[in-house]
Order: sequence, then C-alpha cells, then structure tokens
Amino acid sequence: MKTLQRTFTIIKPDAVRKNAIGDIIEQFEKNGFHILCLKMLEISKHQAEQFYAVHAGKSFFDSLTGFMSSGPIVVLALEKENAIADLRKLMGATNPAQAEEGTIRKKWATNIEHNAIHGSDGDDTARFELSYFFAGYELAQ
Ligand code: ATP
Ligand code: MG
Repeated sequence: MKTLQRTFTIIKPDAVRKNAIGDIIEQFEKNGFHILCLKMLEISKHQAEQFYAVHAGKSFFDSLTGFMSSGPIVVLALEKENAIADLRKLMGATNPAQAEEGTIRKKWATNIEHNAIHGSDGDDTARFELSYFFAGYELAQ
C-alpha cells in the first residue's frame, strides 16, 4: 500500500532572484511530487530566526537569517511517497561544491549559504515547518 508523506520546501531568495522558480517547481513535478499548496511571500529577520531556531548560536545564524529575509521566497507543501528523503536527494548537498549532477543545488546554488532551496530533514521538522507557514485549512484535501 502506498503511504503518502508530506514535506515542506522553500525556494530561497537567491533562486527567486535568478528566475529559477519555474524550473524548480518543474523538477518537483517531474520527480513525482504533488503540490498541495504554495505561496510567495517575504519574511522578517525575526520570522527567519524563529524558523531556523535549531541553528541559533551557530556562526552563520545571523547571516543566514539576514539572507532568508532579504527578498521574496516561495514556500510549498509537497506530497509523495517517501517525500522527505526524496526531496533531500533532489536538492543535493548543502554545499553546492559537493552536490551531485542533476540536483537542484548543483544547478542553482551559488554557495553553501545561498543554496537555492530548503527542505525538511525529518518527520518532526516537516510538521513544524508546514504548520509555521500554512494554516490547517490550506492543507486540507
Ligand atoms: P536547509 O535546512 O536549508 O534545507 P540543509 O539541511 O542542507 O539546508 P543545514 O545544515 O540545516 O543545511 O543549514 C541550514 C542552512 O544554513 C543551509 O541550507 C545554508 O543556507 C545555511 N548554512 C549551513 N551551513 C552553513 C555554513 N557553514 N555557512 C553559511 N551558511 C550555512
Ligand atoms: Mg536543514
């Protein structure tokens, strides 16, 4: 039996600035992800700090949250069998220098911080991140 799983992704400000939204969404659909919901918005530095709270205290925290609040982003709720792991694979390594050919970061990331896309890394983070950006009615099917 197929068990569908949900994950959360952000097309980051660098990728939006590069006009990569369409290409990245096409990659989602070509790779079997169903788009449940999506929206384009800007977040404040404070909201970026809340979203990335797990990284508070790291050397790159201030820079990362400044970057994430530097321009429009696109947030999406995706659904697929094994969605969380499959999206991480499609994204490629955090550092694009290590990203495999055919991944979104290989194609669009500039460096380890400006790396085009975010994807939830587990069940708990997917739940938190989906509920941070989407209301229950937006994800109701
Ligand atoms: P994401 O959480 O955005 O999906 P990830 O799980 O691959 O990416 P994390 O280790 O969770 O990577 O780091 C979160 C984000 O912080 C990275 O995507 C990147 O934008 C930034 N980042 C991570 N490591 C560094 C670093 N050494 N220097 C600058 N920025 C970094
Ligand atoms: Mg992460």
